[in-house]
Amino acid sequence: MADLLKKLNRNPFTGWLVRALGLPNPVDLARHGGSYEAQPLKGRRALLCRSPEGYAAGQLACALAADGAAVIHALPQAANEKIDIVVMDATGCTTPGQMRALYDAFHPVMPRIARNGRVLITAPDLAEAADAVAAATARGVEGFCRSLGKELGRKGITANLAYVQREAADRLDGLIHFFCGKQAAYVSGQAVTVTMQVKAPNAVLFAPMLPGKVALVTGAARGIGLATAERLAQEGATVICADVPAASRELDALCSRIGGMPLELDIAAQDAAGQLAALLVERFGGVDIVVHNAGITRDKTLGKMDGGAWDAVLNVNFAAIAAIDRALLSGRVLRDEGRIVCLSSISGVAGNFGQTNYAATKAALIGYVAALAPAVAARGITVNAVAPGFIETAMVAKMPFMTRELGRRLNSVQQGGLPRDVAELITFLCTPGAHGITGNTIRVCGQGLIGA
Ligand code: NAD
Repeated sequence: MADLLKKLNRNPFTGWLVRALGLPNPVDLARHGGSYEAQPLKGRRALLCRSPEGYAAGQLACALAADGAAVIHALPQAANEKIDIVVMDATGCTTPGQMRALYDAFHPVMPRIARNGRVLITAPDLAEAADAVAAATARGVEGFCRSLGKELGRKGITANLAYVQREAADRLDGLIHFFCGKQAAYVSGQAVTVTMQVKAPNAVLFAPMLPGKVALVTGAARGIGLATAERLAQEGATVICADVPAASRELDALCSRIGGMPLELDIAAQDAAGQLAALLVERFGGVDIVVHNAGITRDKTLGKMDGGAWDAVLNVNFAAIAAIDRALLSGRVLRDEGRIVCLSSISGVAGNFGQTNYAATKAALIGYVAALAPAVAARGITVNAVAPGFIETAMVAKMPFMTRELGRRLNSVQQGGLPRDVAELITFLCTPGAHGITGNTIRVCGQGLIGA
C-alpha cells in the first residue's frame, strides 16, 4: 500500500510543510525486480579495506570482481567521486587497539558512500576467538557495524556483518552476491555467521540460481509466500504452492503465472505431513527447498485469550512445521543439499503486546533452526529463519492509521518493506551459494529499532 509520507514529501504543495514539521523523508530504495544477473555488481565501484592480519580480504576481492564490481583499495582523490560498496575485512581485529582500523577505514568514506550503497564487514568467528578480549573485540565490530547502519540508513545504505570462521573464508561469494547487491535493499544491521558446518554443494550457480530444483512454499496464496513463490520460480525452481482450500482461486492464478503446482493443504490438519511427503515423492521424487511461510495471528492479551486461539497459533506456526520436517527428513524426502527456511518474526525476537501465542511460536522457530541445523549439516542441508519486521501486506493494511505510520518509521530506512524484500532473502538462503550460512536468524526489517 502507498506510503503517504513519501507522497506528501514528493508533492510540491505539501513537501515544504512535511520538512518544516521535521518529519522523515524516506529515500526511494533501489530494488531489483528481476532474477539474479551473472554480474550483479557490474558498473559499481567497491572500496575494499582491511585490518592487518585479516584472513578474508583476498576472497572478498575475488568475489567482488567475479560479480563485476570495480574494486579499489583507496579512496579516489576527487571528493565528488562516490563509492557504491564498502567492504571491510576486519577478521584481523582481535584487540581494542586493532579496532582503530575500523575508524581509519570508515571515517573518510562516510560522506562519500552513494545513496543505496552497501557496507559489508567481516569479523572473526566468536567461537574461534583465542581469549575473552579477542571475542569481545569481534563482538565490538558488530556494534560498530550496526551503528553504521543507523547512521547511513536514511540514504538507503545498508550495513551488515558476517562472522567468518577462518576455514570458511572461501565461502563468501554468495554473501557478496546478496549483501552487496540490490536484493538486500531492506536487510540492514544484521550479523550472520559463515561456517564450515555444512558440506559444500557440488555446484554453485549464480544466474539462474535454482534450475532443476523443486521448492515447496506454504501459505503461498498471498503476501510474503506469494512473493517467495514468484521469486524462486524466477531463479528456475519448480514451485509447489500450498495453501488452505479457501485460497484455491489465488493459488491457481499464481501457479498458472509461474508454472507451479497448486496444492490445497491445511498444514495443521491431521496427517498433513504424511500426505505431503507422499505427494512430493510420487510427483517429484523428493524436494530440494522447503519454505515454512504459512502463519496466523490470533491476538489478545493473555488474560483474555481463549485456549482455542492459543492452540490454533501453536499448531499452524510451530507444531505443523516440526511435523512436516520430521516427515521430510526421516524419509529423506528432502534431498541432500536441501534448504529449509522458516518465517519467524520480529515479535519472536522482542516479544509483542497481545501476541504471547504468536511470539512464542516465532521465538520457538529461532531456537528450532539453531538446533536442527547441526543435525542435518552432514547431508549438506541448511536450516535458517527469516524474521520480517514491518512489511506492507494485507495484515498491515488493517492496522489503525497511527499505529501503521509509527510502525513504518521505526527503522533506519524510515519505511516499510515489501513482500519481495523478504522473498529476496529467503531465495538467497535457498541457493547453493548460501551453504556457509546455517542455523542463523536474519531479520528483514530495514534495521528495525524494536528488538534490535
Ligand atoms: P498472510 O496472512 O498475508 O498470508 C499467510 C498465508 O498463509 C495465507 O495465504 C493463509 O491462507 C496461509 N495459511 C494460514 N494458515 C494456513 C494453514 N493452516 N495451512 C496452509 N496455509 C495457511 O501473511 P504474511 O504477512 O504474508 O506473512 C507470512 C509469514 O511471515 C507468516 O508466517 C508471518 O507470521 C510472517 N511475518 C509477517 C510479517 C508481516 O509484516 N507481514 C511480519 C513478521 C512475520
